[in-house]
Order: sequence, then C-alpha cells, then structure tokens
Amino acid sequence: MSAIEIVPIPCLRDNYAYLVLAGEGAYVVDPSEPGPVLAALDARKRPLVGIFATHHHPDHVGGVDGLLGRWPGAFVAGHARDRGRIPRQTHFVDAPRDRYVPTGLHVDGIEVLALHIPGHTLGAIAWYLPPDDHRPGDVFTGDTLFAAGCGRLFEGTPEMMFTSLRTLCNLPDETRLWFGHEYTAANLAFAATVEPDNPAIAERRAHLPSCTTPTTVALERATNPFLRAENPEVLARIRAAKDAFRG
Ligand code: ZN
Ligand code: FE
Repeated sequence: MSAIEIVPIPCLRDNYAYLVLAGEGAYVVDPSEPGPVLAALDARKRPLVGIFATHHHPDHVGGVDGLLGRWPGAFVAGHARDRGRIPRQTHFVDAPRDRYVPTGLHVDGIEVLALHIPGHTLGAIAWYLPPDDHRPGDVFTGDTLFAAGCGRLFEGTPEMMFTSLRTLCNLPDETRLWFGHEYTAANLAFAATVEPDNPAIAERRAHLPSCTTPTTVALERATNPFLRAENPEVLARIRAAKDAFRG
C-alpha cells in the first residue's frame, strides 16, 4: 500500500519546492534553497532519498548542495539535456516530447514517469506520479506551466511551449499540477485581459487563496490562456503581451 503525501514548501520570494513523503523516505522536487527544505525534512524526521529537478535554474536547484551535505547518497534526477547544468546530477532521464515514459525511479513502489517539456528552458522535464487508489495523478511542472500561466521563453520557441503544454495536460481532468512559482493572482489578472468574457477566469479570480498550488488539468483547460491558445502563433502573441503586461 502506498500513501503519498505532497507538501509545498515556500522558498525564496515566490518559489515552491515540494516535499514528497512516501513510505519511510522523502523526496524533494526543485529545492530552491536548503534552509526551508531541511527544516521540513527535519520536522518530519524523514531521510532524503532523492531530488527531482524540473530544470536547471538556480531558484530550482539552489538547495541541492546543502541537501546532499546532509544525505550524500540521495539521487539527483533531471533531463539528460541538463547534463552539466544541474549540480550533482546522478540520473540523466532522456524523456521524449510526445509522451510520458517510465524513468526507472520509484517513489514507494510507484514508478515515476517523465515528459520532456522544452519552452522555458531546453532541458525542462515534467515528473508524473500516476494515480493510485488513494490519490489522483500528480505532475510537477516547474516553470513550464503555472496556474493560469506559463513560463517565459528563455531558451525555447512558441512551438515548443505550445506542444509541451498540450502534452503535459493530456491527462485526466482531476490530475493535480504542482508548479514552480506563486504567480497565480497576476496570471489571472492578465488572463482576464485575454479572455474578458470567460466566466471561469472571473470565478477563479474571485475566490483565490493565498497558496494556489496545486491546480488541476480541468482548471487549467478552463482558465489558462496559454493552454487554450489554438496554435503556436496565438501562444506567441499572448506570451509577448504577457511579457509587456504590468497588471
Ligand atoms: Zn525557471
Ligand atoms: Fe523559477
């Protein structure tokens, strides 16, 4: 029997690292900085088994060294494209762009799947814990998909981001999406300018908690203008408008 618990850990200014408690051990997704993550692990008295990085940016891997200082045997998994960019990486997962594939990495008996999601960076990867009897599926999206938004195109093209968002969300409605930054209020303010007549966006804006992670596939299909863009050209236009947006 597996009972997986996922705990968001606020880091830096608006980052989320995630603690995944499974069986006797713990895993961390995107440790932005060591302090809050070490505190969360200590509070639960769980040893760190491994780290999953969604991409190489310092606000997602800045805590790797500090965590390995305490648990030198923990694995560090990232996409194969990020070789040399993720500190202390031990697992180089060569996930494809068109489907989630098994990684050989397990979290309390559940095999983690992965999908290559370039756009924000070229090595971005989504980590997917498929559903079991106790929970819906869970995906860690990093800075590719945010609630009602997407990451800036630092390395990839609009076509890449378009395909990545579509494939990332090609999962059941109730699948939970755990993202890298608390940008949701600003994203929804922008989304409302893209789709002023979309009642789902207005509704979501009106009832926004301070911590909005996780979102779901269904909620993003209803309110995320980047996921709703019908083609890469439209996504590029919306992305350019968002980059210039001062809500
Ligand atoms: Zn980033
Ligand atoms: Fe980030």
